[in-house]
Amino acid sequence: MHPNRVWADIDLDAVAHNLSVIRDKVGPGVKLMLVAKADAYGHGAVATAHHAVRCGVEALGVGTCCEALELRQAGVTVPILVLGTIVDEEVVPALGHGIEIGLHSTDRQRSLQRAARRLGVRARVHLNIDTGMGRLGVRPDRALELLRRIQGSRHLELAGVMTHVAAEDGARSPETEAQVSRFQAVLSEARAEGLLRGWIHSANSACIFTGLRPLGDAVRPGIAAYGVLDRDLDGTSLLVPAMSLRSQIVFLKDVPVGTPVGYGSTWRAERATRVATLPLGYDDGVPWRLSNRGEVLVRGRRAPIVGRVSMDYTTVDVTDIPGVRVGDAATLFGRDGAEEITVREVAERAGTIPYEVTCSVGKRVTRVYRGGGIAEVGPRHTDPRESATRS
Ligand SMILES: *Cc1c(COP(=O)(O)O)cnc(C)c1O
Repeated sequence: MHPNRVWADIDLDAVAHNLSVIRDKVGPGVKLMLVAKADAYGHGAVATAHHAVRCGVEALGVGTCCEALELRQAGVTVPILVLGTIVDEEVVPALGHGIEIGLHSTDRQRSLQRAARRLGVRARVHLNIDTGMGRLGVRPDRALELLRRIQGSRHLELAGVMTHVAAEDGARSPETEAQVSRFQAVLSEARAEGLLRGWIHSANSACIFTGLRPLGDAVRPGIAAYGVLDRDLDGTSLLVPAMSLRSQIVFLKDVPVGTPVGYGSTWRAERATRVATLPLGYDDGVPWRLSNRGEVLVRGRRAPIVGRVSMDYTTVDVTDIPGVRVGDAATLFGRDGAEEITVREVAERAGTIPYEVTCSVGKRVTRVYRGGGIAEVGPRHTDPRESATRS
């Protein structure tokens, strides 16, 4: 029997393993800033961050001030950077807890400077340069001016200079080359003026595994640390998925030919069918688009989702799986025996990306952590056979 109606198994050893694969890939001397935004892509930010820090990660990146404060309050002491930006109301709490902030405008520079003066602290900022993402960040031609303002202020401290790459293909894409050269141009002018301090960083997971160079002082892996990249890149076959989403069968019903199942009666039994009801739905992270097209694993075999996925329930056809009983585990993604449904497969069937699949695992889903013995994430040799037999 399973103690939970729905749960996400989080394998902390997989996270540690992935971090060591990333370490090997980027080589010695490059720091890891684990991106733990969106509750660590659904894996649970506090547990994941604590483990990553034990594994030697030097900093954390988050999406919002609240996420940063959650980690601070949980006792995380490494630098935490709000990668994007904060809103005015968050300036004081962020500075009060020593949160580092991405800086993208002179307005923000002024408000941070004012608040830091009032609080009697130095605000640690990372200048974000928009080299082609087109979202946050200062235009390259405004970057020097901002760097001079930062250097000229006693209340601001430059903790880093960053850019963000737009191409899903990382450094394989010609657009990335253009981004890199814009970034390097700003950096060399800034260096010539003696304006550079802190870490230079630009690489996300795709860039790490496509050989972006130069890497600078730090890299910002997110999805690779969780082992669910949406494409195969050089070295990503070593990564191990950290999350499995599971539930248990709560009801079994044998229905005759013609019986409709679910909202809108979009599915009708074409044969005498054994329908299993699972107590999880789109609020728990089963994409609604898997209605009549997804699969789950039961007793190590694939069972098709029949009818619509609803908010709390999903129905599957288990007619062809011998011995099914109420209480049997059902795996939405993850491994069961010899079979595996990957997050990427779920994303492809649902017409979305792996990021959205793990981020959508709902807040009522219990995270059950496994592993987490202290691991070294220093550079070490990774044996592909080891990862092949791991999960
Ligand atoms: C989310 C994010 C990352 C991590 O991206 P992955 O593709 O998950 O590795 C890195 N940098 C910034 C600025 C981000 O917003």
